Amino acid sequence: MKTPGIITKNSDGSLNVPDNATIPFIEGDGIGPDIWRATRTVIDGAIAAAYKGSKKINWLELYVGKKGYEKTGKWLPEEALDTIKKHVVAIKGPLTTPIGKGIRSLNVTIRQKLDLFACIRPVKYIDSVPSPMKHPEKINMVVFRENTEDVYAGIEWESQSDEAHAVIRFLTDKMNATIAENSGIGIKPMSAENSKRLVAKAISHAIDNGYTSVTLMHKGNIMKFTEGAFNKWGYEVAKEKFGDVTITEDELYKSYDGKLPEGKILIKDRIADMLFQQVLLRPEEFDVIATPNLNGDYISDALAAQVGGLGMAPGANIGEECAVFEATHGTAPKYANLDKVNPSSLILSGAMMLDYIGWKEAADIIRTSLQATVKAKTVTYDLARQIDGASKISCSAFGDAMVAKM
Ligand code: NAP
Repeated sequence: MKTPGIITKNSDGSLNVPDNATIPFIEGDGIGPDIWRATRTVIDGAIAAAYKGSKKINWLELYVGKKGYEKTGKWLPEEALDTIKKHVVAIKGPLTTPIGKGIRSLNVTIRQKLDLFACIRPVKYIDSVPSPMKHPEKINMVVFRENTEDVYAGIEWESQSDEAHAVIRFLTDKMNATIAENSGIGIKPMSAENSKRLVAKAISHAIDNGYTSVTLMHKGNIMKFTEGAFNKWGYEVAKEKFGDVTITEDELYKSYDGKLPEGKILIKDRIADMLFQQVLLRPEEFDVIATPNLNGDYISDALAAQVGGLGMAPGANIGEECAVFEATHGTAPKYANLDKVNPSSLILSGAMMLDYIGWKEAADIIRTSLQATVKAKTVTYDLARQIDGASKISCSAFGDAMVAKM
């Protein structure tokens, strides 16, 4: 085995991946350590099964969150961010965010500081996983959530603060707005540049993976200059950068009698609230969904519910420079250190990471063994409560059961 090496990125975005690649990980808070342990076992097992020792990951721990605070006195040490940048690819467990206590979400801060502008969450049914849907096999969508702006930009002031009063005074005096004096204030910035790069990434993903539609999800009927503008910019970038392969719904009906021509991708848009019902009633009509930050957060959890719940939902945060893979769910503090929860979300995020670095054989082994393990009805509590005759096993036992099936 060669000495550990660092993944590097070429100017065209392709990666150079050494056979013994060093990849940083953040264990996370709450259930993070439990699901990370199981995930590491599974990723290492899949790589061993796929490459018989010729490839290996050299794991490098980063101390962030509670562990970071205990070890370094900082929740998010600057060196951790530098290490992720240097290594191009990283994986993390969930991190705690105290609600309403003035501490910004570490997860959001990581995404913003590393400019991981696209949060990518595939939602695909895995055979045998319990689902509340009649036809879960029809669900195969990928959510592209803008990750750096919108109401997540962190620009907000508490009710009654000097800052909130100053902003309210400006808006009432200069902008003729009517705002209650004791309001809390949050700002929702959305730019052409960031909206367009997100939609462009979503369209590229559709092209590369054979999807036939990209839906712009927005609430532009109400928030015209933010979400409405996102929609407009989405159509603009589709035309500017992908004009030869994309068509709009208008063009589809005017020129093609509603039938999508071979090789084309349909760009359509849907108002957010309406899309929530359409993905339930007609999931087969949606492939890639590109959307601003808050909508993306909501729709990805709602879609995850259709294919087995948050314990089954993987995700990736990807920018120009680097990528951080993470589960969609949070720290579920009531289950911390019980070795109980479902590690599949982080395990499937690990499979996405292996795909990203080109180790696709190992990624496929993970997905196949996960399906076989669920099919054998050896599952964690969340799935066991939905499957008749299931054997309920621990988080670590689930990881071990997966490795045994590789
Ligand atoms: P959560 O941690 O996602 O947990 C909510 C519920 O989802 C759990 O009680 C559990 O449901 C189910 N669940 C989550 N993960 C699961 C797993 N691996 N296996 C099985 N079931 C799972 O949401 P929360 O309680 O609202 O948030 C807790 C903390 O996490 C907050 O501090 C929040 O800010 C943070 N958070 C972090 C991230 C991140 O790191 N990216 C994302 C979201 C939230 P049952 O109770 O029904 O079993």
